[in-house]
Amino acid sequence: MSDPKDKVETYDTTLRDGAQGEGITFSLDDKLKLAKALSDLGVDYIEVGYASSTPEDVEVFKRLRTASLGDTKIVAFGSTKKKNVSAESDPGIKAILETGAKIATLFGKSWTLHVEKVLGTTLDKNLEMISDSISYLRKKGLTVIFDAEHFFDGYAENPGYAFRVLECAREAGASTLVLCDTNGGSFPDQVGKVTAEVVQRFDCVVGIHAHNDSECAVANTISAVQAGARHVQGTINGYGERVGNANLISIIAGLYKLGYRTIEEDKMRSLTALSRYVARIVNERPNPRLPYVGERAFAHKAGTHIDAVLKTTRAYEHIPPELVGNVRRTLASKHSGKAAILNKAKEFKFEITEEQAESLTKMIKELERQGFEFENADASLYLRMAEHLGLYSPPFSVHNYVATDNANKYQSVGMEVQIGDEIVLTTAESRKGLVDALRKALDRALSSRFPDVTRIILEDFRVMDLDTEKSTEARVGVWVKSRCDSVTFWTIGVSSNMLRASLDAIEDSKKYGLLVLSGKIR
Ligand SMILES: [Zn+2]
Repeated sequence: MSDPKDKVETYDTTLRDGAQGEGITFSLDDKLKLAKALSDLGVDYIEVGYASSTPEDVEVFKRLRTASLGDTKIVAFGSTKKKNVSAESDPGIKAILETGAKIATLFGKSWTLHVEKVLGTTLDKNLEMISDSISYLRKKGLTVIFDAEHFFDGYAENPGYAFRVLECAREAGASTLVLCDTNGGSFPDQVGKVTAEVVQRFDCVVGIHAHNDSECAVANTISAVQAGARHVQGTINGYGERVGNANLISIIAGLYKLGYRTIEEDKMRSLTALSRYVARIVNERPNPRLPYVGERAFAHKAGTHIDAVLKTTRAYEHIPPELVGNVRRTLASKHSGKAAILNKAKEFKFEITEEQAESLTKMIKELERQGFEFENADASLYLRMAEHLGLYSPPFSVHNYVATDNANKYQSVGMEVQIGDEIVLTTAESRKGLVDALRKALDRALSSRFPDVTRIILEDFRVMDLDTEKSTEARVGVWVKSRCDSVTFWTIGVSSNMLRASLDAIEDSKKYGLLVLSGKIR
């Protein structure tokens, strides 16, 4: 029977199965960084990759063998030997030994369809391949984890054979039997039932490796643990083949909620940062909708929700966001009322009266009617609110501009900017488009008074058509993401003219950035 107080081993396969996801590749340096981050988190195993004997592969294992990875162990991955060679002369098995890893994960077939139709061999021969490969690696002193590929599909078609495969692996010396839902189509009740049967019949650690094709990878993993599995495999953010693997972060957080031990409790807080760090390594935008660690995991929008969360956070939060290192956000939007505005003012550290809250709400509702959506543009909202409350007066404003596209070859902008009592005229050219020329012209105008203005860097730029109430005129919203030292923030501009909207968003970016540079905002 499963006891929630039990330790469950965590096995990360981001570097191997994660790298099988479309668009994901890791350089040598990425692999070393990721391994370090995973060992800092305290996962028990890191599957470094498919042992292939390529020079890079050899190098990664060599470096990781001597890296300080705490208690985290590195694992080489490979398949059981080919059908017509001995384990000793099989190139894949040789490559595993060459990695110098003390632990190998071998995958073998447990579904008759794969044995006969894909591998093209007999059921008995497949058992021999599994047995010989594991025995040989055991003889060489390695610990062997056995991944039973397609176990749940295999069990559904021929349970006797699927079990025979596990028996064979165990008899040959595998320390852990991992049940794989390789096609990712299984459901939690089935996974739980089959896992319980395996746990009952074998005296070793039973593991689970799930893919997410029916969006049940995490649920299947948790179901397996509740049925007695004590080894979970997954990838950070669920990267992997097709739609991906079970997300190890959600598994760790979910098992924590259920009382199982995985990583040290004080490491739970690093889950959010790790998720975003790995997203950056794979060059993907962090997914805001990820459970637990996504930017929106604790973002409240409906007025009634915000109101309730302000009274008691448990009203609309299944865990405290800080448990996983995330933060609660309330979104100022047309769905929210005074409660949200009051809370936003608190977040911005503005002390306001009831009366000021009323007038701020009115002002924001009017801007929203014009098409402003502040929920993803906190910096613009900050500026509007601060100005409305008389706490801020803008250090500059753009009076006028002229933009010219010169036969698609280069773009030029002339601009008139008021800075204090002075009017500054500037021009700028760009080959990257009019928006870039606008940015350059504004930087140039501001740089005489604010030499640090170029430290405010535009990182992202998005344009969207807006639905505006009662408006016959089409409007666009432009969102700009900026970075100033370590602070990142979003601003918004709205206009019927895309260029004007862009300029407004850039203007807000510079205004907010100057506040950051002056130390008024951190
Ligand atoms: Zn897999």
